[in-house]
Parts: sequence; C-alpha cells; structure tokens
Amino acid sequence: MWNEVKTNLSSTKVYLKEFLFFVTILIFLLFFIVENKIILITVIALILLFGLIFLNFIGYKRNRELKAIESVILGIRNNTFNQAEEIKLKENLRSLQEEIKQMFEKERNDIEYLKRLERMRTEFLANVSHELRTPIFAIQGYIETLLNGAIDDEKVNKNFLDKANQHTINLSNLLNDLIDISMIESGEMRMSYRYFNINDYFGQITHEMMPIAQEKGIELIYHPAKEGLQLFGDKNRLKQVFINLITNAIKYTEKGKVEVLIEEEPKYGKIIIRDTGIGIPPEDINRIFERFYRVDKARSRAVGGTGLGLAIVKHIIEAHNSKIEVKSELGVGSEFSFMLKK
Ligand code: ADP
Repeated sequence: MWNEVKTNLSSTKVYLKEFLFFVTILIFLLFFIVENKIILITVIALILLFGLIFLNFIGYKRNRELKAIESVILGIRNNTFNQAEEIKLKENLRSLQEEIKQMFEKERNDIEYLKRLERMRTEFLANVSHELRTPIFAIQGYIETLLNGAIDDEKVNKNFLDKANQHTINLSNLLNDLIDISMIESGEMRMSYRYFNINDYFGQITHEMMPIAQEKGIELIYHPAKEGLQLFGDKNRLKQVFINLITNAIKYTEKGKVEVLIEEEPKYGKIIIRDTGIGIPPEDINRIFERFYRVDKARSRAVGGTGLGLAIVKHIIEAHNSKIEVKSELGVGSEFSFMLKK
C-alpha cells in the first residue's frame, strides 16, 4: 500500500511546481486571514494532507493510463494483435488510441510491402538463374559434343556451332535486358525529353527493321502521320520501346503484316503497333508485362525472347506519364498502343 502511494506520488512529480505554487499562495493568504496560530497550523496541515491525497489520486489515475498504453505497446511489439480494432484504450484516450491504431496499420502495411519485395527479389533471382542456365547448358552441351568427335562430322559440326552461337546471342540479349531492368529499378536510367519529328523517326526505325520482317515474309508498313507532326519524349528510350514492340509483332506473326500508325488527337499522338499474328489468350493479357512472363516459354526462347522486353517497355512508357494498352484476339492478331504528348 505504502509502495503504491510512493509510486503514485512520484509519478505526480511533474505537477510538483504547480502544487507548491498554489499551496504557498494559499498559506500566504491564510497568514493574513487567520490570526489564531493553532487554527492556522491546523488548516495548513489539512491543506497539505488533502493536497497529498489529491496528488496520490491523480498519480493513481495517471499510472493506470500509462500502464494501459504500455500494455498496448507491448502487445504490438509481441504481435498479440491481429487487427487494429483489437487496440482499445479508455474513452478519454480515444485520440491516442486512433493514432496508435493508424501507426499499427502503417507498420503492418510496411512490413507486408517489405515481405512482398523480398519475395519478388527471391523470385527474380530464381528466374535469372534459370534463364542463364538454359543457354549456358546448351552451349556447354554443343561444345562438349563437338570436342567428343562431332567436330569432324561434316553433317553436324556447322549446325552445332550455329546453335551454340544462337544461344550466346540469347545470353547477350538477356544480359542487356537485365542491365536495363536494374538501371530502371535503381532509378539510374536518365531520361532526356525533347520534341522530335515522328515521320523521320519512324521512317528510320522501320527501315532498320525491314530486313527482319522480310526474312519472315512479313510486310512491315508505316502509315505516315501528318507532315511535320512532332511528339514529346525521350527518342533513344522510345526507340528501345518501338524495337521491342515491332520485334515482338514480327516474332509472334507467322504471316500477314505488321503496321505502325499514328492517330492524332488534340493534345496527343496515339502510336499503334498492330500485327496479324498468333494473338494473346485473354487470361494472359494482364500478365505479359510482368518480368519473365511468357505465354509460351518454349516459343519465346526459340525466337530469342528474354521475357523482359515488355517489362522494360512498360517502365519506359510510364516514365513518359503514359500507359501501354493492349488488345488481342487469338489467331487474329494483337495491337499495342500508347499516347505521347504533342
Ligand atoms: P519475350 O522476350 O518472350 O518476347 P516480352 O516481355 O517481350 O518477352 O513478351 C512477353 C510475352 O508476351 C511473350 O513471350 C509473348 O508470349 C507475348 N507477346 C508479346 N508481344 C506479342 C505479340 N505481338 N503477339 C503475341 N504475343 C505477344
């Protein structure tokens, strides 16, 4: 009991200055009002006694509230709460209770976010290792077979070397895409925005890509925009976007054509890359922009795909404050489009 009183009183030390101030004034006034010494001393003693009882009461309440707060904090630290609603304090501490609840929810979300990042990182590493392993094993296999005698077999030696060479190209594409992805994600990819003439730009890109389309017997057509139309963006980074989108369009089209067209709107130019290819199943359409996601893994690898192209495209388009849209019908074709500022 005495210990509890001591704790209560010691926790009211913060009010000691105010308490002494009022008691001194009261005693000072009593000196003028009360003439009888005995009464004066009795009154002062009573004031001090009631003062101490009052302080003890305040200390008691204060300690109870502090204990309640302490137990909530301890509960958060020991993960005893499953949800914010379980955190409860007394009526007079409602605003503090709300603050603690919000802190609890923020901490939960931050931890969830970090866990998700960690999962993504592990998944990414597993994917990278897997992607690296495929071409390295293949190259190793071809070289070993050649060394074990196939090098003298006229029927297979060139073919094996060609295949090993194709795998080194795939490996190099993968490394380049990985460098781009890591630069984008670490914020190192610097963008440099300018106005540029869209017809000159696409004229050059389609000219460069024509041989790849011709090799597959596919028509690559650029429908010129209004003469002198300028759009705003990072020319070099956008070139990477167009090369990726046009290469995909050619890669995933067996016959027909790939068209690039620009629809002019009052404030924007909408760039459309359309093909008459294999199309994308509806259930995969939302996932093709994820890193390493492919509708048909074997087919993508066979045509030298890394599974990272569209993830890079999405990042670059978003850095232009735009959004990439895709429409596709299986067996009919696909259309990728996005807006650039005029
Ligand atoms: P990849 O290197 O495999 O082509 P991308 O990230 O560029 O990787 O594309 C992801 C997947 O989206 C591809 O594997 C393919 O399944 C699908 N895809 C992309 N573009 C097209 C297209 N024009 N037509 C059909 N499927 C496409």
